Amino acid sequence: MDLMETYKRLPVRFSYGKGVYLFDQNGKRYLDMIAGIAVNSLGHAHQELSEAICKQASKLLHISNLYENPWQEELARELLSEFWTSGKVFFCNSGAEANEAAIKLVRKYFKDRGENRYRIITFHNSFHGRTLGALSATAQERLHSGFEPLLDGFDYATFDDFESVLKLIKPETAAILLEIIQGEGGINEASAEFLKKINDLCDKEGLLFVIDEVQTGVGRTGKFFAYSHFDLQPHIITLAKGLGGGVPIGAIIAKSSVASAFSPGSHGSTFGGNPLACSASLVVVKNVKRLLDSVEKVGTYLKSGLEYLNVGKVKGRGLMLGLEIDKDCQDVVLRALENGLLVNCTAKGVIRLLPPLILSEGEAKEALDLLKKSL
Ligand SMILES: *Cc1c(COP(=O)(O)O)cnc(C)c1O
Repeated sequence: MDLMETYKRLPVRFSYGKGVYLFDQNGKRYLDMIAGIAVNSLGHAHQELSEAICKQASKLLHISNLYENPWQEELARELLSEFWTSGKVFFCNSGAEANEAAIKLVRKYFKDRGENRYRIITFHNSFHGRTLGALSATAQERLHSGFEPLLDGFDYATFDDFESVLKLIKPETAAILLEIIQGEGGINEASAEFLKKINDLCDKEGLLFVIDEVQTGVGRTGKFFAYSHFDLQPHIITLAKGLGGGVPIGAIIAKSSVASAFSPGSHGSTFGGNPLACSASLVVVKNVKRLLDSVEKVGTYLKSGLEYLNVGKVKGRGLMLGLEIDKDCQDVVLRALENGLLVNCTAKGVIRLLPPLILSEGEAKEALDLLKKSL
């Protein structure tokens, strides 16, 4: 094989998709309950999305950020209308890049104020990406192994444990970075009380509250941003996965008073927010805003269906769900593949469901039947 061995790939070759289904080279159909890891938010071959991509591709793919970009301006407006306060947006190409931008913005914000605050508190079992800054923010030893020394400036607390956060506060602490629901860590939910305490601590100590919405954002949990389920006022949020419906795009949104720490030359990206990616994302964002009620409703149906299976703890919200079983779930994933169902196994024992947000109740029922057969 000519490819680096970075992935353990399942033995299947897909040739096309339609809605929530994928078809392999032999024409076998699979119900896609993973959506390219929360990416294909509008499913496969969505007509409006593919038309927008084709139309933009025939006009202009890329212009760099040397020039004005009305596609970014329109997309930023759509995103900011969901943000809790006035903000500004920066576009990049992936989740790791979005978090890198957030880390840099945190540092620059305090440097500009003449304060020596740069340390960021993150959480065990978090996932923020594979680049060195984002990897250093990710508190998982198995992912660090072999890449040390990591970037300095991160302190690791226990998720959903407020006391563990307090113990880590130092004069140099600048920010707290967390996921509302830890995705790669196994669909771990933070409690409303914990999140509120973190929010208020940031307020009181002048820390920046940064929420990684790369997996939870853009409708995944039934609200446009997952933090909106709670009474929270984040300074920075990061987005990627579902934002482009399959076209790579990432973004960070920051409260205006924080965003102003970036000035011309501070940060940048050659590809970030090019006309192709923004045109695709605009279609995704507008459609997702109309799908939120359905995500909530189908998510609730799917969650109670998983609970009814009575095989393990069910976690998550909206269409970001996990079923914790007491064995390694890779066998289940393989059996499901045979049965024409795509799911994924994360944190060893958690079967993760991240279907396209267009999933109907009928399709959710089909997924439950196929999953039951595979267990
Ligand atoms: C996937 C993920 C990332 C990294 O995104 P990439 O696009 O793979 O770099 C960061 N944070 C969270 C919460 C994620 O789920």
